[in-house]
Amino acid sequence: MGDVTFSSIKPALAATMKGRGVKQVREFKSLEGHGFDNISMGARPSGTLHMGNLFVLASCMHYLRINSNARVHVDIMDLDFDNQRGLVFTPFVNLPGTRDFIGQLNAAVEILSGELKVASDRVKIRYFSDRLKQGDSELRKMLLRLAKNKESVKAVKYSISDRPGRYDTPPISMICESCGQSSSNFAHYRSTRSLFTADCGNVTCTVGEYASDLSSALFNVHYLVDPIRDLLLAPNTLHVYGGDYGLPHGQSDTLRFMRVAAVMEATRLNLGLETETPSFFITPLITDQHGKKISKSERNGGQVAGDIATHLKEEIAHVVKLMGLYIDGTLKGLSLMRSTDGEPCDV
Ligand SMILES: [Zn+2]
Repeated sequence: MGDVTFSSIKPALAATMKGRGVKQVREFKSLEGHGFDNISMGARPSGTLHMGNLFVLASCMHYLRINSNARVHVDIMDLDFDNQRGLVFTPFVNLPGTRDFIGQLNAAVEILSGELKVASDRVKIRYFSDRLKQGDSELRKMLLRLAKNKESVKAVKYSISDRPGRYDTPPISMICESCGQSSSNFAHYRSTRSLFTADCGNVTCTVGEYASDLSSALFNVHYLVDPIRDLLLAPNTLHVYGGDYGLPHGQSDTLRFMRVAAVMEATRLNLGLETETPSFFITPLITDQHGKKISKSERNGGQVAGDIATHLKEEIAHVVKLMGLYIDGTLKGLSLMRSTDGEPCDV
């Protein structure tokens, strides 16, 4: 399809969205009447649950009250590629403690289902790695097709980065099967041999360069690319993102969720998928009492405290109260969630 750039994807994206009358929604009330049957969200297991996770989950579960047919799909992103994490990193899937994350999320779903009076079995939580581990999984097949298709890789890399770099490096990174670490460089695809290659950057590992067709191995996926899993859901899906996906990505003027939408469109068009890019709902950005975004990197955040059992209930009661204010329009724009001392703020 000739040269595919981010700016050439945008008109296609705009046309698709316009054609469906949809849908980049920030007001919860605008979700009513659309009849989304599948609600999708992701959560990164980078520690214990944080307020952002809970706000997104609460938003998804609030929607279950609007549409009695709807289901929520939560993917725990334990195979997320993030090159800000250093030259060598251990993917979440190989970090001790990550497997506890599903327990925390399940506990949160149980409490929320009581608070919101929706059945907890309408929420399905899965590890991304478990989906990929199935050798014949549709998700694995789609990601590998994407990684091997030169035009898709080019379009996707234009969508996720202002400086897309090489097109023979798909937006995935391999995990060394010997030591379990992952390079933060993209893998190389050697089309002549149909193999992906990478260097193990772990100085204590003797493997050096390794190659695999990845048909059975796990691999990390760039965090702006992994939402293409939604393309496997039925049409008329809504993806719910936290407030930071409504912010520009890097130095550009393109909002992060628009980059994800462009990746999905590029994947759909280049792989010839007969499916739909979902609609997007962006929850309000969570800030401290000074209006500053709460984040781990700013060190002004509080995760739901280590003692989940004690604190989860009160954190969720706070989130539910804020969601109520947000939904009825009392709370506009930014949400006041946590002060710098980690205590909930008054609203
Ligand atoms: Zn290694």
